[in-house]
Formats: sequence, structure tokens, C-alpha cells
Amino acid sequence: MDEIFLREYQRQFIEDVRKEFTCHKRVVGVAPCGAGKTIMTGWMIREATQRGKRSIFFVHRHELIKQTSETFNRLGIEHGIIAAGVKSQLDLPVQIASVQTLARRLKTVPAPDFLICDECHHILANTYKSIVNAYSDSYLLGVTATPQRMGGINLGDIFTSMVKSLSVDELITLGNLTDFKYFATASNINLKNVKVKFGEYVNADLAKVMSDNRIIGGIVENYLKYARGKSAICYCVNIKHSKKVAKAFNDAGIIAAHVDGETPGQKREQLVEEFRLGKIKVLCNAELFSEGFDVPNMQAVILARPTKSLTLFIQQSLRPMRPDVNDPNKVAIIIDHVQNYSRFGLPNAIHAWSLAPNPPKKHKEAPVKSCPNCGLVVPLAQETCPECGYEFVTEEEKEERLKEHTGYSFRLEREIGSSKSTGRGIVHAPKTPEDFLKIAREKKYQIGWVAFRALEHAQSYEDCVHIADICGYKRGWAYHKWKERQEKLASRTPFILHKGETIKMI
Ligand SMILES: [Zn+2]
Repeated sequence: MDEIFLREYQRQFIEDVRKEFTCHKRVVGVAPCGAGKTIMTGWMIREATQRGKRSIFFVHRHELIKQTSETFNRLGIEHGIIAAGVKSQLDLPVQIASVQTLARRLKTVPAPDFLICDECHHILANTYKSIVNAYSDSYLLGVTATPQRMGGINLGDIFTSMVKSLSVDELITLGNLTDFKYFATASNINLKNVKVKFGEYVNADLAKVMSDNRIIGGIVENYLKYARGKSAICYCVNIKHSKKVAKAFNDAGIIAAHVDGETPGQKREQLVEEFRLGKIKVLCNAELFSEGFDVPNMQAVILARPTKSLTLFIQQSLRPMRPDVNDPNKVAIIIDHVQNYSRFGLPNAIHAWSLAPNPPKKHKEAPVKSCPNCGLVVPLAQETCPECGYEFVTEEEKEERLKEHTGYSFRLEREIGSSKSTGRGIVHAPKTPEDFLKIAREKKYQIGWVAFRALEHAQSYEDCVHIADICGYKRGWAYHKWKERQEKLASRTPFILHKGETIKMI
């Protein structure tokens, strides 16, 4: 048995749950993946066992039984497993059970004192409900990262109290999750004719849209652009779509495989193992690995299945954010092909979870935007892209904003050598073509980006020629750009500030 220490927030979570159980029998504990839900619940189970109580922890996937069993072993919790094909040991006080098997054996498995439902956003499904109803006298703890269910039905029908742990950002700060970069690709996907049932897109309709060869080609192309060589899970619409995507990767020379719920256990384990070892680079599936699938060396996810389910979105997009001891500087890459960010925002958005039976809120436009130059998704208020330096706000817009604010219009003359202030002290902004070329080489941007960025700082025709030389363009290009620039300048107001001046009113 390994020595396992709880972190302060984990202790707090356990304490909060314990407190709630003094006046509630059914509590839901909310913690993002990465918070250590299995360790926290395992800890509670161990304490219950020490007080002579019986516990059942139930999960709904084969992989999760194995992972939970491993964690319980590390905690020194002797346990039986209730699952098809496994010999039961019902005399042991702790059981890890598969939902399906437990639901079938309710008559033979005695009621526990403490019942724990993993991924409890499923709890309104019939198999789950049959377990909860059969053990109605037990203390019930549900754990989940997303305490809501599709179609706006909430968990308040089952639970009477909710305990919340840390947010995704807090877990990133603590190092429980890695930082991430979220890229969204320009979407040519049209979901207009995709029907919605029970709050989610109809799969058959989605499959038709997403199986377009150009869209699948784009998935491979963007993997190469944003996550080349990284281990990635690709979430697809259905088995057929997933197989097609895997084939497209293999055709492009990137080793990929498809796995689904029907893949025989041994074969599935073998493929997952090859993925862990990095032999398979891209593992395509349809929802199979959304929940509790721990592969620390997973570095990227590809979202190729549009969803309206916030739960599914969070589970899939947080999946690569497991820290990797072999890669302490890991930054997870999320590639969104399906505009999920426009429905939900970024994976670290704060959500106001509640057990109240309110009607579902309509998703408002998410407060994020995607950089038109590199695709990085950033908060709406961001003025400069942290990835490529793209300025979202033009000088004209900045001026407009100020005008709205002050009623005055003014323009600052952009000085060579001006510096930008950031939260972490002053840094000099890149301004010469050489500066931008260096960035482009480091970040593998195209030469067009260098020209685009450097031109913003060009003060003369000579500057434009210099940029053309650096970028390998002809002199004619420099002349054309300089003329374009002068015309643009001429169309502006004549109130350009000179050095030393501050504000000029219109
Ligand atoms: Zn950018």
C-alpha cells in the first residue's frame, strides 16, 4: 500500500461532505476531473470501513472498475468486484460494482450503509434509479464534474445537498491539471439541418454532416498544424465516422486506431496500451473515453463531434489535462473542429451548478472568440492573441471605444520603440521584421504572418522594401503595400497627434 496524502482542498471536501451527511441522506459532490474524486471517495470508504460500515462504489464502465480497484488497492482497501465474469466476494465490506451487473443482482447483494455513485450525472437513468431505490436507506454520495443531465432534467430529484470542490483554474494553479491551449478551426460545418432530440444533436444527422471527406481531411490537417507528433484522442460521432477518421490518419502516415464499446476487451486493452506507449498516435472513438479514462501521456484531444451537452464537452476537453511526470511542462492541446467553444466557452469556464428545478437556461453566446490568424480561443475582452500576437482591436476600434467612453476622439502616434505593459512587468513588443521572423520560426508560422505583422510597424517605403526582402517578396509588393497604406492614412481624420501632444478634440 502506497502512502497517500490528501491535499488541503481534498480534506476540506471530505469534511464538507461529512457535515452535509449530518442533516442530508443524499449528497452530490462536485469536483472537476483531476481533483482526485476516486481518492477522496476511497478515503471516505476506508473511514466507513474502520467504523464497521459496508460500502458499494458503483461505476458504469469496465475501464473505471479497473482504475477504481487500483486506487483502492493503493489506499489499502480490501474489496470485492461485482461485474459480469468476476467471482464475487460479497463477504468483503467494500464492493466496486458495475451499474449493469449490480442492477441485475439487487436481490442477492445486501444493502450497504454507504452507497457511492460515480459519474452521477447519469443517475436519472433507469438502471441507476433501480439501485438507488433498492438501497433507499443507504447514505448516498454522488460524484461528478458536471451535476446536470441532458434535456434540462436536474439532479435535485435525487439529491438534497451539493458540495463543491475547486474550479478547473484552481486545479491548474495547484498543478493537478496542466495548462491548455484551445484552438478552434474555421468551421465549414453546417448544423442547420441536424435535428435536436432530448437536448442533443441526433447522431444519424450529425454523421451525415461530419462524414464529408473535406471535413475529415481538415481533421488530419489540423492535427498536423496544432499537435503534430502528439498523442491524441479523437472524439467522433459514431463508429462508422470514427473508423473513417482513423483511416484518414493512417492514409496520411499517422498511426491511428479506432476503438468502440464493441471492441473485445482484450483487443481494446491492447490498443489502449499501444496508445500509452506512443505506438498509436491517434485513438479514434465515439464517446468511449469521455469519462474517467486516465492516460497521462495523452497530450491532445480532437473534438470532431458537435455536442449540445455541457457534460460531454467538459469531459472530453479536460481529458488531456492530466499532468505527466515525464513532461513537467506539458500544455494540453484541444482542437475544436465543431465550434463547441461557441456553445460553452472554454473548458475552465465557471458554471453556476444548482439542484434547483429551474428550466434549462438557453445557451448564450459564449464570452470567447477565436483568433483569425492562429485559431487560439481566448476571452472576448482579449486585445492581443497570446499565441501569435494578432491584434483583435484595430487602432480605429480602440479610438472608437475611447470616444464612447470620453466623448473625445484622439489618436496616439505610434512610436517606434513603444512598449506594451503586461501584468508581469514591461516587455518590449516585437516591431521589426526580424523580430517577427524570429517568432515565426519559433512557432512555425507562415511567412505571410511576418509580412502582415511587420507592415503594421512600417513607417516608410524603405521599411516596406525591407519587409519584402526579409519575406522573399518582390519590390513591386513593397510599392503596392506602401501605396495601400498611404491611401488608408489619407482616409483617416487629420488629427494625428505629434510627439509631445496628448489629446486633440474633434
Ligand atoms: Zn493568434
